[in-house]
Amino acid sequence: MASVSRAMRPLTAAAARVGGRRVAVPRQRLRFNTARCLSTTRPLHNDSTIDLTDLQPTPISHFSEIETMMADSVGKFAREVILPKVRDMDEAETMDPTVVEQLFEQGLMGVEIPEEYGGAGMNFTAAIVAIEELARVDPSVSVMCDVHNTLVNTAVLRWGTEAQTKKWLPKLATETVGSFCLSEPVSGSDAFALATKAEKTASGYKINGSKMWITNSMEANFFIVFANLNPSAGYKGITAFICEKDTPGFSVAKKEKKLGIRASSTCVLNFDDMEIPKENLLGEEGKGYKMAISLLNEGRIGIAAQMTGLAWGAFENAASYCFNDRKQFGQLIGTFQGMQHQIAQSYTELQAARALVYNAARKKEAGLDFVRDAAMAKLYASQVAGKLSSSAVEWMGGMGFVREGLAEKFFRDSKIGAIYEGTSNIQLTTIAKMLQQEYTK
Ligand SMILES: Cc1cc2nc3c(=O)[nH]c(=O)nc-3n(C[C@H](O)[C@H](O)[C@H](O)COP(=O)(O)OP(=O)(O)OC[C@H]3O[C@@H](n4cnc5c(N)ncnc54)[C@H](O)[C@@H]3O)c2cc1C
Repeated sequence: MASVSRAMRPLTAAAARVGGRRVAVPRQRLRFNTARCLSTTRPLHNDSTIDLTDLQPTPISHFSEIETMMADSVGKFAREVILPKVRDMDEAETMDPTVVEQLFEQGLMGVEIPEEYGGAGMNFTAAIVAIEELARVDPSVSVMCDVHNTLVNTAVLRWGTEAQTKKWLPKLATETVGSFCLSEPVSGSDAFALATKAEKTASGYKINGSKMWITNSMEANFFIVFANLNPSAGYKGITAFICEKDTPGFSVAKKEKKLGIRASSTCVLNFDDMEIPKENLLGEEGKGYKMAISLLNEGRIGIAAQMTGLAWGAFENAASYCFNDRKQFGQLIGTFQGMQHQIAQSYTELQAARALVYNAARKKEAGLDFVRDAAMAKLYASQVAGKLSSSAVEWMGGMGFVREGLAEKFFRDSKIGAIYEGTSNIQLTTIAKMLQQEYTK
């Protein structure tokens, strides 16, 4: 299958190339050319905002041409290449290495990485579309792509030095899986109470401690590790470092066995006097907590998209069964009003969740404040995924409960949405804090 992102390159390049030559396109013209939809193909990595004044309002769920192509091609790729492997990967609790290779081949691991570094050079919403489409088929594959794109690649794009960018972006776009290592045995929701320590050495830093529940850690060879360089300064000592798996002192201690997303690896990592060169400092010393907050705010939109993709997959699977396959009392079960009302209610909730997800993504892309929108999207999308995938099991009766189909897997996979990248309570706290600020007189 041809690369998804490469197939779209003529389109993505159109806004910025004239006669095959890359040219600086004034923002005004770029905006005009893409006025049918807020989303442009140009990633917005600086802190500037897009002026929305002259844009024609469109439905939130309206996709640009490139986003539509992304959805269609990733959907096709997921159905043709990933779907046949989903059940086996879940049973084996392992990601098939060929799936990882194909994610890279398709350009889905470097969605926002510029083309000159081997990436697809697309925007944030395109990554969100890909994450959602992958989750419609397998939420485990989706989270691999999500963590890699929204947390790891974004961190390097935003804070990498020139040398780090040149060294790592081509690898992250084409062959090296990344992990984001913040949580620890003592710090989950209270993320910045982390106990992993870094100390300066003559040539760089020495890291001691451990991380827990780290996604992608079996497959990864690029780890963004948060450690405290100055514990007396509390969270202001937290610093981000780039670590590689073959560094002496680094070990993957344990692979967790899980309720859901079982093909996605989740491991404990240990750092035992792990020495890294000073070039591996990512961003500034003591700025790690700010970096993590900013990354997780964006990452939450990715998890929300994973959850709407999951809910959509569960819905399609069950609706197809109810409307086409299963007859009771001489009629298709989807024709009973009692079933139809449940199906209609669930579909409405799914579309409401998708509206929150794409609104948050568009706001982030426009450079607007999206923190509350991201929290609402993650909170609600994970609630909808849990409720819908549970209903879908019931709609399919015994066929929903057995491990022959995917209904029970979507149900198990849905639970994680309310836990990682901030539990539902933490999302509620974020939303409530902002409301309190807004409404306190
Ligand atoms: C499969 C999986 C993959 C993960 N991947 C990663 C990863 O790649 N990188 C990474 O760094 N981490 C990862 N995590 C960790 C994840 O982010 C944490 O599990 C999550 O933040 C919750 O922390 P905790 O498990 O310690 O729960 P706790 O913080 O102990 O929370 C337990 C309960 O207490 C509630 N609670 C806690 N504090 C409050 C409060 N102030 N107010 C109200 N309720 C509260 C929570 O909402 C929750 O219901 C992963 C976890 C899992 C399970």
